[in-house]
Amino acid sequence: MRRWNGWGDDSVDAPMSSGAIAMIESLLGPGCPPVDLDLTQVARTVPASRAAPHPLLIDDPTERVRHARGQSFPDLIALRSGQGLTFPDAVAYPDSPEAVRELLHYAERTGASLIPFGGGTSVVGHVTVLPSETPVVTVDLSRLSDLRLLDSTSHTAVFGAGIPGAQLESRLRDRGFTLGHFPQSFEYSTLGGWIATRSRGQQAIHYGGIERLFAGASLETPAGPLNLPAHVASSAGLDLRELVLGSEGRLGIITSATVRISPTPEFEQFDGYFFAEYDQAVEAVRMVAQARLPVSMLRLSDPTETAVNLASSTAEQAEVTNRFRRERGFGRSSCLLIVGVTGTGVVRTTHRHLEQVLAGYGGLAVPGGTHGSDWSHGRFRAPYLRNTLWELGYAVDTVETAVDWSRLAATRTGVEDALRDGLADIGEVVLPFTHLSHVYPTGSSIYTTYLFRLAPEPAETLRRWTVLKQAASRAIVAHGGTISHQHGVGLDHQAFLVAEKSSLGLDLIRGVAAQLDPAGTLNPGKLVS
Ligand SMILES: Cc1cc2nc3c(=O)[nH]c(=O)nc-3n(C[C@H](O)[C@H](O)[C@H](O)COP(=O)(O)OP(=O)(O)OC[C@H]3O[C@@H](n4cnc5c(N)ncnc54)[C@H](O)[C@@H]3O)c2cc1C
Repeated sequence: MRRWNGWGDDSVDAPMSSGAIAMIESLLGPGCPPVDLDLTQVARTVPASRAAPHPLLIDDPTERVRHARGQSFPDLIALRSGQGLTFPDAVAYPDSPEAVRELLHYAERTGASLIPFGGGTSVVGHVTVLPSETPVVTVDLSRLSDLRLLDSTSHTAVFGAGIPGAQLESRLRDRGFTLGHFPQSFEYSTLGGWIATRSRGQQAIHYGGIERLFAGASLETPAGPLNLPAHVASSAGLDLRELVLGSEGRLGIITSATVRISPTPEFEQFDGYFFAEYDQAVEAVRMVAQARLPVSMLRLSDPTETAVNLASSTAEQAEVTNRFRRERGFGRSSCLLIVGVTGTGVVRTTHRHLEQVLAGYGGLAVPGGTHGSDWSHGRFRAPYLRNTLWELGYAVDTVETAVDWSRLAATRTGVEDALRDGLADIGEVVLPFTHLSHVYPTGSSIYTTYLFRLAPEPAETLRRWTVLKQAASRAIVAHGGTISHQHGVGLDHQAFLVAEKSSLGLDLIRGVAAQLDPAGTLNPGKLVS
């Protein structure tokens, strides 16, 4: 069963190696394991529902706890401590567009607001229930999860918007196709959620982000149904799909979507390369992006992330890698690049070309391909470490942005410095490390993970997180980065949105929302307030 207060299936644990625990302890100090409430204890704190009864609504306290929050770090603190939680008054599981429409009518009649809920994997507060004078109903779309049409001639498919990634991909694989959208939250995040947050998968270099895969949709809005046909290409004025992408549940509830699919690849391989110097590795990656080599994924870890990854690997793996590094003279500043190549047999030649480009910057493939295959097999397991670290008394969270190549080094340093120094006044150490994973000819995403110690009191842990998040976000904006490359805006990035959209731009978004949802029924307070 899915964990209600952490990541993943509760039958799956991700123990950390003793080497990784020792490394973290030596850098941050001993962990401060918290005392968490269990589901029954939190469910007891759920107040009576204010929602007018309706056959589509469930007011069971456990359901309301499970839909109170997403997966952001503040969400985890609130769920695990039971502090600062507001619960939806009811949860609905519509199984048809008509049922969604009925919920919109219900909201109009009763003044309730509705929060569309896909997989609840938001990491920026998209599905958080905010205190409100009027009832709040969370609309869980998991029953809209059917494959409605697969056009194997045109390479398109229509799915119910609540289908989670793993299910969607398996339905396509059965028919010889793939969507190729693999966010790390793939197990639980849904097609509708991907569209509503402008999500990006790990192999977006090859398949494209959701904006390239998303061809059309049907939405139910308070102003009526909105159908966006899946044209092959069109110059008929503004593309309304762009309004829906990143709409964060504010404009309408997506009930189904058409996506562009690809035949399953004939060939796919992931390899690890080591570089002696990080700056050289960044140059190599830039060359790969600008030469438009047909790689499908790329993840360049900085030296600290490389060291953390190595400390987390098995003894056998560490031995092979350390011998390889010793023999090649790669020291502490060396770093690991994982590269994937995906496609038809023709892309085998990409490998040779890739090796040449990377070798030009000192990049050497680790023999045996273990790093690449380990990444590929463990790609959806890493988030389980969030639970493990929490239980050991450490916090882990991420910040992400994208900037052009000329500003990349300064932005990465600026964000890491902001985090590293963020808790210096209370003598707490913060450990930041970064990877580049989505590269473009003009720039790259920057994805920084940071660890710090939990405090004995949840309120103090939240304060520490807030200080760090604000400092990192200010650094991102100061360096001209976007406030989010892939996670969206929700609550946590809202204050920084004006820097890239301008006040007029924000008014434009509010105006579109007011046109489709004049009463402000849908997900109020998210994206723009
Ligand atoms: C461990 C972890 C790893 C992650 N990795 C990635 C990653 O690699 N790439 C990435 O892009 N993101 C990643 N994320 C963030 C998150 O998974 C994405 O934002 C995802 O797109 C959210 O999908 P969801 O179905 O869970 O949506 P939810 O979290 O349920 O909702 C997100 C927003 O979308 C709206 N929404 C959802 N469904 C609909 C619908 N049918 N109609 C209208 N609005 C809707 C909601 O109202 C809300 O505003 C990660 C999150 C976690 C916890």
